[in-house]
Amino acid sequence: MKKDFYIYNTASRTKEPFAPLHDTVGMYCCGPTVYNFAHIGNLRTYIFEDVLRRTLLSLGYTLKHIVNITDVGHLVSDADTGEDKMEKGAKREGKSVWDIAACYTQKFMENIRDLNIQNPDLFPRATDHIPQMIAMVQELERKGVTYRTGDGIYFDTAKFTAYPDFARLDPASIRAGERVDMGDKRSPTDFALWKFSPPGVKRQMEWESPWGAGFPGWHIECSAMALAYLPQPIEIHCGGTDHIRVHHTNEIAQAEGATGKPFVRYWLHGEFLVIDKGKMAKSGGNFVTLDSLKSRRIPPLAYRLFCFSAHYRSPLAFSWEGLAGAAQSLVNLRRDLVAGAKAPSEPADPGNAENLLKDFYAAVCDDLNMPQAMAALWDIVRNEKISPAERRAAAARADDILGLDLLQVPEEEPAESFAGEKDAAIRLTSGRPLTDAQKREIVEKVRQRQRARAVKDWGAADRFRTELTQLGATVKDRPDGTAEVAIQ
Ligand SMILES: [Zn+2]
Repeated sequence: MKKDFYIYNTASRTKEPFAPLHDTVGMYCCGPTVYNFAHIGNLRTYIFEDVLRRTLLSLGYTLKHIVNITDVGHLVSDADTGEDKMEKGAKREGKSVWDIAACYTQKFMENIRDLNIQNPDLFPRATDHIPQMIAMVQELERKGVTYRTGDGIYFDTAKFTAYPDFARLDPASIRAGERVDMGDKRSPTDFALWKFSPPGVKRQMEWESPWGAGFPGWHIECSAMALAYLPQPIEIHCGGTDHIRVHHTNEIAQAEGATGKPFVRYWLHGEFLVIDKGKMAKSGGNFVTLDSLKSRRIPPLAYRLFCFSAHYRSPLAFSWEGLAGAAQSLVNLRRDLVAGAKAPSEPADPGNAENLLKDFYAAVCDDLNMPQAMAALWDIVRNEKISPAERRAAAARADDILGLDLLQVPEEEPAESFAGEKDAAIRLTSGRPLTDAQKREIVEKVRQRQRARAVKDWGAADRFRTELTQLGATVKDRPDGTAEVAIQ
C-alpha cells in the first residue's frame, strides 16, 4: 500500500499530499547549461531531485523522469542581454561550441555518477529539439501573445494576466524595473522566445526558422522538451529556487499561453548552498567543484551525506570542516554496519526492516525531511537491541532512498582491511590478534593522519604517526593513496 507523501508545492506555498493524476508520474527537472563545470551548489539541487525520484520509486510509483541538457542559447542574464554562455565558454577555451557542450555534458555525467544520482529516463538535448521549440513559438504567435523587435520574437507578458501569480511578483516593483535598459521590449518581464542572429554575424549555433536564422530563448527550451515527452499537466517540475522568479514563471506563461491548459501540478524547488554568506555561483570567485573535493580526499558521497544535514528548502552553509565531518560520519555509519556483519547473528526477517524504518519513512514522506530521516537511521544503526543482520537489512532498504552505498565493503580489499572511502583505503596486517576496538582506534588515527596530509598539515600528520607508533603500528603510504598499516 502506498504511504501518504507530503510535498511542499511552490505554486500554493503549502505542503500538499501528493496525488498524481496519471498512472505514470511525469517529472521534469531543469538540467545543466553545459558551458562550464557544475559547482557543488548546482549539484545540491540534483541530489535533492534524486532523493525525490528514489522516494517516489520506493513508494511504488512508476516514473517518467526527464532532465534536459541546455546546450544552446542560454544568455548571460535573465533580461536576455549579454553574451551567450555557450559562445562565451567556447571563446574562453578556444574550442567550438559543440566541443564545449560535449565536454561539459560528459563532466556533468561523471559528477552525477560519482554522487550516485540515478539516471533519468531521458536527457534530451536542446539542440535536438529545435523544431518543437519553433512550433511552440508559432503557436504562441497564432494566439497573439508575441511581438517582434529588432533582435527577436518576444512573449508579451501583459497578455498573460496570471504572470505575477507564481512568483508572487509585485506589479509595482516590476514597473520600477522599467528604468533598466530593456532594448525594444515593452515590459521588463517580457522575454525572448527566439533570437535572431545579429546581421552579418555567423554564429556557431544557429538554425533556420520562419523568422530567419537564429536560436531559441532559454525558457522555451524547457517547456518544449517537457511537453514533448510528458503528458500535460506535468505532475512534477523541479529546479533551484533561483528559477522561480524568471525561468519557471516564463515557462508557465509560454506553456499555458500556447496550450490553454495548466502546465504543472507540483512545483518543487531546492535552496542554495551558501558560502561566505552568498550563494555559490559560477560568476563569483567561490566556485567549488566535485573534483576539488576529490583532490582533498573528500569522497563525493560524503558531499551527498553533507546535503542531508539541511532540509532541501533551507540554505545549506558550505564549510570544509562540515564536509570533513560528513566524511567521518559516512565512515562511521559504514563501519558500524560492517562490524555488525561480522558478528554471528540470525538471518534478518525482511518484514521487520519496514517496521524498523517507520520513523525514517515518516521523515522522508514529510516533504523529504532528510536531517530527521538520518537521525532515525542512526537510531537503528546504534541500537544494540536490534540484531546486526536486521540493522543491515534496514540500512539496505533506507539506502534505496539515501544512495550512500551504506553496505559498501570494497571487494578487492582483504578481510582485515577497512571499509571506507574507496580512494583512501587502509590495509591492516597484524602480527597479533586485535579486538575490534583496537582496530577502530588504529584505523581512526590513520584516517586522521590521512586527512591532515590531504590538507598539508604536516605537524598534525606527524603527531598521528607518533601516536600510531606507540600503538605498535607502522604506516606506509603507497602512491595510489592506500595506507599500508603493519601492526607488531
Ligand atoms: Zn528549465
